[in-house]
Amino acid sequence: MSSFTESEERQTLRKEVTKLAKTYGREYFTRCARNGEKTTDLWLAIGKAGYLGVNVPEQYGGGGGGIGDVAAVCEELAAQGCPLLMMVVSPAICGTVISRFGTEEQKQRWLPGICDGTETMAFAITEPDAGTNSHNITTTARRDGDEWLLTGQKIYISGMDEAKNVLVVSRTEDAKTGRLKPCLFVVPTDAPGLSFTSIPMEIVSPELQFQVFIDDVRLPADALVGDEDGGLVQLFAGLNPERIMAASFSTGLARYALDRATAYVKGREVWGSPIGSHQGIAHPLAQSKIEIELARLMTQKASALYEAGDDAGAGEAANMAKYAAAEAACDAADRAVQSHGGNGITQEYGVAGLLVAARAGRIAPVSREMILNFVGMHSLGLPKSY
Ligand SMILES: Cc1cc2nc3c(=O)[nH]c(=O)nc-3n(C[C@H](O)[C@H](O)[C@H](O)COP(=O)(O)OP(=O)(O)OC[C@H]3O[C@@H](n4cnc5c(N)ncnc54)[C@H](O)[C@@H]3O)c2cc1C
Repeated sequence: MSSFTESEERQTLRKEVTKLAKTYGREYFTRCARNGEKTTDLWLAIGKAGYLGVNVPEQYGGGGGGIGDVAAVCEELAAQGCPLLMMVVSPAICGTVISRFGTEEQKQRWLPGICDGTETMAFAITEPDAGTNSHNITTTARRDGDEWLLTGQKIYISGMDEAKNVLVVSRTEDAKTGRLKPCLFVVPTDAPGLSFTSIPMEIVSPELQFQVFIDDVRLPADALVGDEDGGLVQLFAGLNPERIMAASFSTGLARYALDRATAYVKGREVWGSPIGSHQGIAHPLAQSKIEIELARLMTQKASALYEAGDDAGAGEAANMAKYAAAEAACDAADRAVQSHGGNGITQEYGVAGLLVAARAGRIAPVSREMILNFVGMHSLGLPKSY
């Protein structure tokens, strides 16, 4: 990136993804969600075109690009009304962690399927009792000969029904200190002892969330990703990509909401001129345009820093981008509903459905409060508040 313009390559990527996403569009996405169907066709099409794993190294079936590329894919899909949460999870979190820390065998085993979409990987860290405080997770792995036995519970795990495997954040006992340390395991979603039930959510999305029960699931030694002692580092490595992707998910959604609102207010007339001519309508939409562009700029900065290897700089920027993008999306969705008047609440116009999807961005994968905690502590040097 230079002169505040993305590379020509990335701009072309955005255009190509937009073209593909338009052939599916919002109607397809909403129809799948309302009929309990999956967006597998779209997912596989993105994979086939090489966009899904665009950030994964080429030797494992990816595009050899950076996090900014896969974030651009996620944003453009959302901007066409197809916000795919599993983009955040499978290629960005799981793809990054395995690419960076997996053994050669693990990379060969799991990355090609993540890239072509045939072996989507879910990600499970959240637990009912630990919540935001992931230091308190209790899902535990204990050794049994050469194998592992994994036991615990997870909640709000996206896409368990679509994933072949799930990357589970758990803990093992440190042989020396007896303390529990985090580590990551790849678990097949059909493993004996693993079960999951869907949580009824109010989001209009084909992608569902699940409660996951892990009851003495037996895993081979090589299910452990990377190093048993390096779990925390590995986990942190997935956080910046996760935030950059979540920001892109939100800016894409915000752009979609704003496009819908703008098109509507240009055409709707109730006082002899389009309602968009009234500043009460135009100004909030202009405000959204500014907020979205600011969030996009910070997301692109975070991607550039991450790609340059500046993890600390990327951390601050990714948190700020994620915060700003979620706020921009919530406001844009709300303004889109308001601009549509009564039509904003109908299923026919499908705008109100954006409210909950945008709202989820303030909660997941990291809540706005935890970002404010981070910025208070790390950017402002305030005392830790929790
Ligand atoms: C649509 C959706 C998809 C998700 N997908 C996944 C997934 O695929 N995998 C996965 O592992 N998880 C997933 N999650 C879970 C998500 O990451 C958690 O919901 C989120 O981290 C918050 O945890 P919690 O729900 O337990 O909230 P809690 O921890 O109970 O927090 C409740 C509220 O209190 C606030 N709070 C808590 N502690 C503090 C503090 N110290 N200071 C200030 N405020 C605080 C929080 O910000 C929040 O607003 C998903 C959630 C949603 C909604």
